Amino acid sequence: MAIDTTTELAHLTQIRHYLHQHPELSDQEFATTKYLTEKLRELGYRIITPADLKTGVIAEIGSGKPVIGLRSDIDALPIQEATGLDYASANTGVMHACGHDFHMTALLGAAKRLAAEPTLKGTVRMVFQPAEETHVGAQEVTAAGGVDGLDAIIGFHNKPDLPAGTIGLLPGGLMAAVDQFTVTFHGVGTHAAMPQLGADPVVALAATISAVQSIVSRNQDPQQAVVVSVTHIEGGSTWNVLPEKAWFEGTVRTFDQAARALAKKRFIEIVNGQAAAYGVKAEIDWQAGPDVVDNDPHLTEIVAAESQQHFEVVAPTPSSAGEDFAYFSQRIPSVFAFIGSNGNSDWHHPDLIVDDAGLVPAAQWYYFNAKRLLTELA
Ligand SMILES: [Zn+2]
Ligand SMILES: [Zn+2]
Repeated sequence: MAIDTTTELAHLTQIRHYLHQHPELSDQEFATTKYLTEKLRELGYRIITPADLKTGVIAEIGSGKPVIGLRSDIDALPIQEATGLDYASANTGVMHACGHDFHMTALLGAAKRLAAEPTLKGTVRMVFQPAEETHVGAQEVTAAGGVDGLDAIIGFHNKPDLPAGTIGLLPGGLMAAVDQFTVTFHGVGTHAAMPQLGADPVVALAATISAVQSIVSRNQDPQQAVVVSVTHIEGGSTWNVLPEKAWFEGTVRTFDQAARALAKKRFIEIVNGQAAAYGVKAEIDWQAGPDVVDNDPHLTEIVAAESQQHFEVVAPTPSSAGEDFAYFSQRIPSVFAFIGSNGNSDWHHPDLIVDDAGLVPAAQWYYFNAKRLLTELA
């Protein structure tokens, strides 16, 4: 089948600009869902979106085993776009600033290519998942049965700092496990001039914020990348009163189960130890987010071999950002790639512009690897 990639690029560019102009927030992607469903139906896909899934689309083509999943996220961010593009967001305060419009377009491109195949030896399932940014969409799809029966699933994130169409692949951890914490120190409020009459949570907080950095510098293997960031602190209301409580929150990023467990254990020990030292009481709320995006080594070898036949393939630096594709990669053999989008800035920036030149390679990446995996896993 000969595909004119110039025509394909024009077609995909038009789709992406439309999607870019009509972004929707996580779990509110109703118009996007309708648009994708119509496109897939036109191409002859069976729409099998579970009723429990309010947004997102699951669709299949072909029949029998194996069943290969191709995943794209579909949500946008609460960011006011500042690109000045003629196809900038028409939805005030909402923007495709993570390039999920790029992902959807590439998957629609692959869907069109697969639909034009005379025969498929197995089934390809399109998984357009909602709510990646809030890290609940992959779990919603999983709970609704949307990935049941898959033998493998692949997906990608556009990477603004790679040239358009360059593929980044690694076995193992590509994107970090995400944990979130909040800590409240409960003390005893008093006059600022008479600290001996109270128990000061502010000084305990200051000491603790410095102390938790030792998790990275003193507890973890220096070869392991670990991030501990305290991002938000609150306490007190004026200059001459010591408050009765102080609060902070932040995040921990790790690339390995053992490092993740160690970080949590040490965090709790240090916070409680500091609280004891300063005579205040610590209340810790620990929220586990997505696990590490963990590429199956065998599947990654297959996808890398296929990708090298068509594209420049590089070993990227893992990203300490999280990705809820991890919920799929915990259940199903999977590969997550980076695909270059040659951007002018980075993810979640209001001025991010991705390069349409990456769309055809990204569509091809899904397409070639879907076919290769159908053969390999037959
Ligand atoms: Zn994002
Ligand atoms: Zn994203």
